[in-house]
Amino acid sequence: MPIADHTTGETGVSALRGEMRLAEPMSKHTTWRAGGYADRYYQPADLDDWADFLRASPHEVIHVIGLGSNLLVRDGGLRGTVVALHARLNDLRLIEQNQSGGLIYASAGVACAKVARFAAKHHLAGAEFLAGIPGTVGGALAMNAGCYGSETWEIVAQVEIIKRNGEIVMRQPGEYAIGYRSVKRHSEPAGTMEAEWFTGAYFRLAQGDQMQSRQRIKELLAQRVAGQPLNLPNAGSVFRNPPGDYAARLIEACGLKGCHIGGAMVSPKHANFIVNTGAASAADIEALIMMVQSRVKKAMAIALIQEVRIIGDARRLT
Ligand SMILES: Cc1cc2nc3c(=O)[nH]c(=O)nc-3n(C[C@H](O)[C@H](O)[C@H](O)COP(=O)(O)OP(=O)(O)OC[C@H]3O[C@@H](n4cnc5c(N)ncnc54)[C@H](O)[C@@H]3O)c2cc1C
Repeated sequence: MPIADHTTGETGVSALRGEMRLAEPMSKHTTWRAGGYADRYYQPADLDDWADFLRASPHEVIHVIGLGSNLLVRDGGLRGTVVALHARLNDLRLIEQNQSGGLIYASAGVACAKVARFAAKHHLAGAEFLAGIPGTVGGALAMNAGCYGSETWEIVAQVEIIKRNGEIVMRQPGEYAIGYRSVKRHSEPAGTMEAEWFTGAYFRLAQGDQMQSRQRIKELLAQRVAGQPLNLPNAGSVFRNPPGDYAARLIEACGLKGCHIGGAMVSPKHANFIVNTGAASAADIEALIMMVQSRVKKAMAIALIQEVRIIGDARRLT
């Protein structure tokens, strides 16, 4: 495919090897199954191809996504190019192993569950919690995804990133301010990591036992099935838990379980989940998020902070 700088109309000379789609419905790529179209949607063939794409389109607005399990794309869609990494950047390797543990490399597009199973298979402990997170390694790094007392960055030895100019470099955990569902580079002025993205991570894990890790994974997945509305499209916990409390408890105490706007509903099974009952628009979901925030604020004087990321235009401008 010829490379074009879409913002200037210039066409480059190299050829990309990935797959470019135009006007791609983002409802196909987000677990909420709602939202508008991306102008362009690119699946790089591999890391070199992604670097080529970045170099060839220096002015293009880029949105990197994994499995879209923490993402709401508004109904007006996304201008620029969505770069989708799942199943394309899929390198997963055991780098070293000794009596005390081992080191695993996983590319950003590898599903978290795959990392958990791979670690267990190699008798490495500490990645079991990743089994239930339905996203990619890249998404888990960006979000510091975690559950049941563990978080992604606790096991990160170093990360590999790609800069906007296509350069690939290693970064150490100490270069980031890491918090609850929050990761920012210390030198970053404000906002999110727009100028660079994760391409992979090295995970340091302790020596464990395959059978014990598999058993732990089984238990954690069973807890999810019992407590989460996995039969309807959702994006996991919508809000972060406020210090010392649970968003789900607060929402339930406000009587909001089952409350709905259009096709979006506060799950009767887990109050911190908003489910798409069939035909929810992104606007329905966002309106319900705002309604829940406002009701909890009014009743409990607590401002719930979104865990899910909302991007895109409310309406398509033609
Ligand atoms: C049923 C369900 C259960 C869930 N349970 C949990 C849970 O227990 N704990 C938890 O923490 N989360 C949970 N989540 C939320 C979600 O799975 C995690 O936040 C996950 O880490 C998102 O990964 P993703 O690949 O889907 O990222 P996406 O949703 O595609 O993207 C999320 C954000 O990360 C950014 N991003 C993605 N890839 C990269 C990259 N390579 N470099 C830089 N930025 C990137 C995106 O730009 C976006 O801002 C759950 C979601 C669902 C649907």
